Amino acid sequence: MYRTHKCGDLRMENVGEEVILSGWVQGSRDLGYMMYTDLRDRYGITQLIFIEENTSKELFEKARTLGREYVVRVKGTVLERKSKNPNIPTGNIEIAVSDLEILNVSKVPPFTIENDTDGGEDIRMKYRYLDLRRKPLQESLMFRSKVAVETRSFLSKEGFIEVETPVLIKSTPEGARDFVVPSRMNKGQFYALPQSPQTFKQILMVGGLDKYFQLVKCFRDEDLRADRQPEFTQIDCEMSFVTQEDILNTFERLTQYLFKTCKGLDFGKFPRMTYDEAMEKYGSDKPDIRFGMEFHNLNDLAKGKGFPVFDSAELVVGINAEGQAENYSNKDIKKLTEWMQRPQIGAKGLVYVKFGNDGSVKSSVGKFYSEDDLRAWGEEFGAKKGDMLLILSGEEEKTRKQMNELRLEMGTRMGLRKPQDFKPLWVVDFPLLEWDEDSERFHAMHHPFTSPKKEDMERMMNGDHETMKSLRADAYDLVINGVEIGGGSIRIHDKDLQSKNFDLLGFTKEEAEAQFGFLLGAFEYGAPPHGGLAFGFDRLCAVMMTGEGAIRDFIAFPKNNQGRDMMIDAPSLIHDEQLDELCLAINLPDED
Ligand code: ASP
Repeated sequence: MYRTHKCGDLRMENVGEEVILSGWVQGSRDLGYMMYTDLRDRYGITQLIFIEENTSKELFEKARTLGREYVVRVKGTVLERKSKNPNIPTGNIEIAVSDLEILNVSKVPPFTIENDTDGGEDIRMKYRYLDLRRKPLQESLMFRSKVAVETRSFLSKEGFIEVETPVLIKSTPEGARDFVVPSRMNKGQFYALPQSPQTFKQILMVGGLDKYFQLVKCFRDEDLRADRQPEFTQIDCEMSFVTQEDILNTFERLTQYLFKTCKGLDFGKFPRMTYDEAMEKYGSDKPDIRFGMEFHNLNDLAKGKGFPVFDSAELVVGINAEGQAENYSNKDIKKLTEWMQRPQIGAKGLVYVKFGNDGSVKSSVGKFYSEDDLRAWGEEFGAKKGDMLLILSGEEEKTRKQMNELRLEMGTRMGLRKPQDFKPLWVVDFPLLEWDEDSERFHAMHHPFTSPKKEDMERMMNGDHETMKSLRADAYDLVINGVEIGGGSIRIHDKDLQSKNFDLLGFTKEEAEAQFGFLLGAFEYGAPPHGGLAFGFDRLCAVMMTGEGAIRDFIAFPKNNQGRDMMIDAPSLIHDEQLDELCLAINLPDED
């Protein structure tokens, strides 16, 4: 028998019992005449004690050979500890060991296996099996498992059925690059890995399945960031005979249910905001509404007074950093300005107005504006003594984006973005199409299967180019704390409207037919009205647990920033025979 208990089980009521435990050696302290060893498994840590006097010499010497991460089985008696450790649940007891079996030895691990490790990202990924022994990772994965179980439980109670869709498919345009897989049996042809099961789930609706869901791997060949991985998991759903309202309600309830069952938290109704309002007030389609600091447009108040920078700007916009006037010296403002001028943000400059506690008004543009002018700006923001306005100007879209960064930074600095304060938000009424100046083409803001709003359908079928820019879609995103959890839309189910959309997106009839003929074909056989959404599952877990979107520790085997799996060392070269078989001649670029 390997164990009677786990390493997190034993308490004072077990004192006197003879027990058997198995686990890994976390570390030992050798005091000469006695030795303490911490034994760890997934469930906790238990202190073992070896006392030379009370045990055989042989056992004591064997205990001394134990290195970190050795795997052992011990038998012993539960004792009350003299000096208790209130920080762990087993801190009141220890095991006086009478029998020790070394089940396996271990090399010295390359980093410490503790809550705060000294290992860098790549080394931790290379030795993922060691990193996985750390409590924070195990807790993340256990949390993830719980969220998955509860998601399945909720959705199946609601009548959704889980259907698996294929992994080897043809490219679906979701805006990213595809990973492709060469076909041996169809030489020169490729499968694509799904960026999402989008078209399949729509086909399932045409197939009459009514309510579909799947916890599904999706693949996108994009540049990686902390909140992105080339393969990730979605809670993917689709429903028939529903309006946007039905979908938002169902998934609002799912989200509430998950927070309740996995975190014990209750939420009321989620607020909603249109895309236009989000851009106007926060310069972002995923605003963090844990704090206010909304944008105020200063065009009317600040232009036409002789300050050339503002006069020539398309937009003058500001935020009020409440209570910050006295916290920011000129040097601090200079540093903040430099932060805004970094290439990642690219602001030209930053204007401030400080309303001092003594009633004074100071501004970097004091030369151009009278005190009355500046006070009028303050009124626009409802600024009080001690507040500080931060103002940017320039081309509208860029300036809003820069102001979004500044607002988030100020929110962080002012401690307004508390990780365990959850503020969900639906962003609705996204534009259907986005005009791309560079390629002079429309892109689908969500994806090409998204339906325009009912009231915009007529304009879409018959309107001119300018009209297309103003079309609104039945498309929505769920945002929590400024992190996009997921989104979806009501789909087009009419063949002509779908063809028109492909046309607007620059597909010729032949291209549309070649890529999506199956869908257009299906739409000719009685496609029901339908819609759905997908949540990023890794991200949802990360946000629920940590309040942030960094997903790496919620994926058992993630890839690094270069898209590499450091443990198995992938991607890797393949043999020439394999290449030949796949008809893939590789021409590597010359070394020089
Ligand atoms: N397929 C979409 C996505 O991956 C979600 C949806 O529209 O249901 O974002």
